[in-house]
Amino acid sequence: MCIFCKIVKGELPANKVLENQEFLAFHDISPKAPIHILIIPKEHIENFQSCPGEVMGRMTPFIQEVARIFELDKTGYRLITNNGKNGGQEIMHLHFHMLGGAKLTWPYQAIEQEAKRNI
Ligand code: 5GP
Ligand code: ZN
Repeated sequence: MCIFCKIVKGELPANKVLENQEFLAFHDISPKAPIHILIIPKEHIENFQSCPGEVMGRMTPFIQEVARIFELDKTGYRLITNNGKNGGQEIMHLHFHMLGGAKLTWPYQAIEQEAKRNI
């Protein structure tokens, strides 16, 4: 069973933010911004590419509610989902990163581009 399924089942601890029957939001263990929340479906869905559209339809208002909890609806935030190997997905259970609480830099650079520049 994957780490996030274990969190859903209560077999691993998490600092929860919001929960309903279908979705769960909790703090990332290694935050990359002052506010870094992970938002997942409780059902094990591998990633965005394999996520049914209806699930996203129900997940959207849940994500928006998480933003309101931290007043990120007013200040702004970044929503990211890493999809597959090149996307840098490490945990193969669909999750959205909600990053906020500070002005974030943009854009991220591809690792390959970065490597070429250093030659
Ligand atoms: P990915 O790289 O798959 O998009 O993101 C995985 C995220 O999960 C990372 O930001 C990482 O810090 C976070 N993470 C990994 N293990 C745990 C854990 O056990 N608990 C929590 N809350 N976050 C985790
Ligand atoms: Zn899972």
